[in-house]
Amino acid sequence: MTVTYEEALQKYEPVFGLETHVELGTTTKMFCGCPTTFGAEPNSHVCPVCLGLPGSLPVTNRVAIEYTIKIGLALNCSIASWCRFARKNYFYPDMPKNFQISQYDEPLCVDGYLDVLVGGKTVRVGIERVHLEEDTGKSLHIGGATGRIQGADYSLVDYNRAGIPLVEIVTRPVPGTGFLAPEVARAYVTQLRDLLRSLGVSDVRMEEGSLRCDVNTSLSPYGSDVWGTRTETKNVNSLRSVERAVRSEISRQAEVLDSGGRVIQETRHFHEDTGTTTSGRSKEEAQDYRYFPEPDLVPVAPPRDWVESIAASLPELPAARRARLISAWSLSELEFEALQNAGALDVVEATVAAGASPADARKWWLGELARRANDAGIDVAELPITPADVARISELVAAGSLNDRLARQVIEGVLDEEGTPDEVVAARGLAVVSDDSALLSAIDDAIAANPDVVARIRDGKVQAAGVLVGAVMKATRGKADAARVRDLIMERLT
Ligand SMILES: [Zn+2]
Repeated sequence: MTVTYEEALQKYEPVFGLETHVELGTTTKMFCGCPTTFGAEPNSHVCPVCLGLPGSLPVTNRVAIEYTIKIGLALNCSIASWCRFARKNYFYPDMPKNFQISQYDEPLCVDGYLDVLVGGKTVRVGIERVHLEEDTGKSLHIGGATGRIQGADYSLVDYNRAGIPLVEIVTRPVPGTGFLAPEVARAYVTQLRDLLRSLGVSDVRMEEGSLRCDVNTSLSPYGSDVWGTRTETKNVNSLRSVERAVRSEISRQAEVLDSGGRVIQETRHFHEDTGTTTSGRSKEEAQDYRYFPEPDLVPVAPPRDWVESIAASLPELPAARRARLISAWSLSELEFEALQNAGALDVVEATVAAGASPADARKWWLGELARRANDAGIDVAELPITPADVARISELVAAGSLNDRLARQVIEGVLDEEGTPDEVVAARGLAVVSDDSALLSAIDDAIAANPDVVARIRDGKVQAAGVLVGAVMKATRGKADAARVRDLIMERLT
């Protein structure tokens, strides 16, 4: 029996929650001075502290604390005046100490929220806690087809990542979103990523693993006052996968419940190729980790004046920017969301700053340029055209030197690296023909070739002029200003 997503949602209420891990962009690791740069020769960024050698002692990275406080403040959390790190004991081959320094019952930031915009509505996602820990190393499984341990000949361990500061942002369970649950989950991660990027605390690259999500999902029958058992889908590594993981778990759990089974509390793996999850291991309880306060570190007690100065240094946050741009550009929430989802906010804002009207900037970036970025499989902001180029093209259109069709050719030239918009116009000969004498000879030709049309216009059927305008546009290979052509035709015939 297969239960579709729609059938599942008719019977059960989905509740999801997200645990997001973010590698901080500090220059050194959490408890030692090793560099954090990505992609270095394996095991070249290690020292006795991050290898957990006997006798080595950790020292807390002040910048990591500052970044975590920034994140907490931006998520409307309270910042602890005193808290401690804790040892989380478990064995993993990529964790050399056999424990991870994390935070347990004394997180640095608690009780916040993020307002997420979805489909023109705001959903408030509660933030339970933001805590700081160290990342593990990385195992590489060699010889198998999938890169997983099953079927591999041997495994290698790279400890360069071990000890990189990692922030974990844990939401409260999010009920009440119904059919929209997968989209809200995705929008939360997208908007959290944008927030973190605006804070400058992480490069938030999901493809490099600097932002990773665990997605918790549960179902309960409508009207039940008890939430169902949740599963935790681990390490979901793209925005699209966040949405698919929630969707897939909703269908799978509904199928289990409908057939009289019960959902097991466990971790699950998400498979990009099929969009489904498979069982991992049964989920540990907190007591399995034997947490205790880390004896090698002093407590963290950020002075209040330091926290206040961090709060004062926060950049404009996405919610404030949203309100400002919606008002300045006279947008609806849906129009703003379209810009945000297209990843075009920064480039449109820069294009407006370079002199284009907001309407023109949006038209080019969401239209022609979004289409070309999509064809190339890249983000619109990665196209080899600058906001200043787009502003210049808009200016040429507004001045009547280009029409939209010619402007698209100029864009094509700039993207092909033929030069600036003005250089492309000159090299390709794209300027609108605005010299009336050149237009008039083409107009006279069109009038001479279409006597029946001319007769209809003289009878008062002015819309027939479109035929003549079309003929002139064709004769000038699209380089004429159509409105000007129409005016000249009407002058000629009346
Ligand atoms: Zn180290």
